[in-house]
Amino acid sequence: MDIAELGERIMQGERRALARAITLVESIRADHREQASELLSYLAQSGRQSLRIGLSGTPGVGKSTFIESFGMMLTGQGLRVAVLAVDPSSARSGGSILGDKTRMERLSRDPNAFIRPSPSQSQLGGVARRTREAIALCEAAGNDVVLIETVGVGQSETVVSELSDLFLLLLAPAGGDELQGVKRGIMEMADIILINKADGDLKATATRTCADYAGALRLLRKRPQDPEGFPKAMTVSAIGEHGLDQAWAEIQSLSQWRRDSGFWKTNRAAQARYWFDQEVRHALLARLDTPEARREMDELSTEVGQGTLSPTTAARHMLAKLAAS
Ligand code: GDP
Repeated sequence: MDIAELGERIMQGERRALARAITLVESIRADHREQASELLSYLAQSGRQSLRIGLSGTPGVGKSTFIESFGMMLTGQGLRVAVLAVDPSSARSGGSILGDKTRMERLSRDPNAFIRPSPSQSQLGGVARRTREAIALCEAAGNDVVLIETVGVGQSETVVSELSDLFLLLLAPAGGDELQGVKRGIMEMADIILINKADGDLKATATRTCADYAGALRLLRKRPQDPEGFPKAMTVSAIGEHGLDQAWAEIQSLSQWRRDSGFWKTNRAAQARYWFDQEVRHALLARLDTPEARREMDELSTEVGQGTLSPTTAARHMLAKLAAS
């Protein structure tokens, strides 16, 4: 495959080229990894930047309905939208929630939208690293907005926040005065909390839930990345298509503020350094995972067990072997 040609086709916005490139970055074959790396370097010249929006919420809260309505609103304004997923459940089931064809049916037919299911890899870390590359591809392809969806199970939010410029947390209206057991760490990560399903019988509850969360957010320490009034809670109805334009206006105002304040750039630089670190760690661990390395480890481990080598000396032997290999 000619990488430069594939790169050009991606930058011209050819969807098939983009889909093919994402398949390439998701591959674990060594030659594919090399081509992927070459392609990403080639595309870095595009200089294009999308607004990367992370979105999390528990199953059933309305993520796919929201993405469809919100995405359709954006494409209706002439914007191009890509939807990617970091799906920790793909590790368990081998399949992906976003692979379900019935989700986002209208949006998936929209020529200005590009939807890609979560790669099915065995570890969240692996999925996230490949999603990071898929984001770069979507960006080079000229998407204005990249939505990165994840199911709220704790760890995946942290990963998605390292991939996005701002983070939305979708919640359902809740009866009673419990704050839905949302973990403090996740609350602190959210830039905008959207209480979905603010329609019909649920509207009053949604309004109350929103006020509860607005109160809880005011108690959080002010973060350097926030202008006055952020993080904030709002109500929306994905089905009724209410509140979506207000949510978009808030997203734009927050991202503009962050660009002006310099936070945007600092944040992306910090993220790039984070992923560099992750890649190095991953590659080093992978070097322990070869048959020779495992054999070496076993032999040294036996000696350590017999007391003929100290753990420290054995580790130094092992590291010296890896460095020489
Ligand atoms: P996901 O699992 O988070 O992707 O949630 P879905 O988008 O599949 O929605 C779960 C259920 O909530 C579906 O039955 C939707 O029809 C419903 N739902 C989603 N958004 C709304 C909304 O704005 N209002 C109401 N009343 N129901 C909604």
